[in-house]
Amino acid sequence: MRILVVEDEPGIARFLKQGLEEESYAVDIAENGRTGLDCALSGEYDLILLDWMLPGISGVEICRQLRTKDSHTPVIFLTAKDTTDEVVFGLQAGANDYVKKPFHFEEILERIRVQLRSVSSNHSKLSAGKIEMDVDAHKVFSNGDEINLTQKEFALLEYLMRNKGKVCRRTRIIESIWNHQFDYNTGVIDVYINALRKKLDLASEDIIKTVRGVGYMIDQEI
Ligand code: CA
Repeated sequence: MRILVVEDEPGIARFLKQGLEEESYAVDIAENGRTGLDCALSGEYDLILLDWMLPGISGVEICRQLRTKDSHTPVIFLTAKDTTDEVVFGLQAGANDYVKKPFHFEEILERIRVQLRSVSSNHSKLSAGKIEMDVDAHKVFSNGDEINLTQKEFALLEYLMRNKGKVCRRTRIIESIWNHQFDYNTGVIDVYINALRKKLDLASEDIIKTVRGVGYMIDQEI
């Protein structure tokens, strides 16, 4: 899952990026309203954390333009504005939720989870063959044995399992799990897939199939 943080306060932006990356999200930061609007309209993000007061274009205006262009990406406002009128104003601009500054990271995380869950009617328990995944508890089991995965391995497996039955292209996997600074030409995904197969004790084409020249997939029937 990929999150856009539009925030002009570098300390807050860094704090959010670090915390969200530790939770396996891919995170990009936009530091002003113009860049924020361009990124928001790119359609590359599963959710947007949007500061209200921004240089250039305000968060409310970004949200309004996003909704005018028929984008349904969930938006959570981050702002010190907290009178009822202001909250209503923000929600009327098309925001899905609202977090007051100063905030606790745990609260933001929970609100993000709620939005992402309602968008894709995600189930937090996924399975494929002998592999079971409890996304909320951040646990993976192979034949009932718990397996320790790194954050990126976990995010990669979750992505493949949520897209069961579909070919997952390398570029889409990278966009979903890594951020813009990632070097698109490396074979790092293949390295991660091999590590996953090994940790999950899968014969190489067992559950995660290689689609030559394209990417990877988990069959629907599994
Ligand atoms: Ca600001």
